[in-house]
Amino acid sequence: MTELIFDENKCFACGTYDCLTKCQYMDIDADTAKVEIEKIINQEDSFVLHDCVTCYACEEYCQNGNHPFYLIVRQQEELDLPPLPEPLIKRGVQMGIPFRGEPEIQEIKGPALNLGVFSSLGNMTRGKLFEGLPIISHDPRKMFHYFCQLMYLHYARTSVINEKLPAIMETIAAHKADEVIHFHDECYGTYVSYAPAFGIDVPFKSVHLFEYLYNKLLELKDEIKPLNYKVAYQRPCSSRLSPDKYPFVEKIFDLIGVESVEREYVGENALCCGATIAGQKKKGSRRFTLDLQEKNINDMKDAGAELCVFNCPACMQTLGKPVAKKGIMPIFMSDLCRLAIGEKTT
Ligand code: SF4
Ligand code: SF4
Repeated sequence: MTELIFDENKCFACGTYDCLTKCQYMDIDADTAKVEIEKIINQEDSFVLHDCVTCYACEEYCQNGNHPFYLIVRQQEELDLPPLPEPLIKRGVQMGIPFRGEPEIQEIKGPALNLGVFSSLGNMTRGKLFEGLPIISHDPRKMFHYFCQLMYLHYARTSVINEKLPAIMETIAAHKADEVIHFHDECYGTYVSYAPAFGIDVPFKSVHLFEYLYNKLLELKDEIKPLNYKVAYQRPCSSRLSPDKYPFVEKIFDLIGVESVEREYVGENALCCGATIAGQKKKGSRRFTLDLQEKNINDMKDAGAELCVFNCPACMQTLGKPVAKKGIMPIFMSDLCRLAIGEKTT
């Protein structure tokens, strides 16, 4: 049985309660945070379980190696307090079930690129940066065999993730790649953060896309022409699960000659794209999401960003059009890197 590895003693001795005091969506002081985290640990109701927008950030805020967000989600499920309406949860869980055939497993020598559920983005993996890299999950009818399941954190359904994850990992491992580069950092977060936190063994080595891109760009350094754009990076929720990979954003930007604009909602202060907040049960969620997005995009615009760089397809789908309307061009990080080596992207 999978169980969250959570060290309550770290919380009792914490003193900072950063997990909740740094939350950007609730105004919580240290005294209140202490009381509420203890309630959550003791499986009691807490306003945090109702007001959490599932931005994942407290996983990063905790400097003690604990898992406050996974704890919140697990307790939401235990106490039947899901942030989303039940029909939406049912439909979402149903959608993630593989619906056609078994995947064709081809054994791979060397590394493989895992597109997870985003097999439709295969056209973004062309060109020199991805040359010779075999793709797993390229068949849209079978992509759910590679679906990391982490999306169900937004649904307060760790039980679904834990039930389905072993079969997904078995499929990926069956390719026998030396290492698996995850195109989406939600997949990366699943295998390097979520699974270990629940005591689930992962039978393959994972590499973050940004680390891969950075190293590939170093190999192609002579072909890089500095792009000279001012950019804002839209940090996805799942990047909170692998903050040690976040520095690769700036390292890539430096290498390809783009400048990160100085703005308020960057790094630890990044704001959620709002993809799932709008559908949450709480009254006013839609208005809240629109205001949040406006605040975020105005911050990019005021700081002089010409491009908004995305990693997550869901963030791009949610914010791509609104940023474009403000005159900021939305672009995926991998496409930006391809531009820097003179390749056209479509
Ligand atoms: S989860 Fe981390 S930051 Fe929060 S109270 Fe526990 S140890 Fe402190
Ligand atoms: S996931 Fe985000 S909204 Fe929820 S408690 Fe953690 S920091 Fe706050």
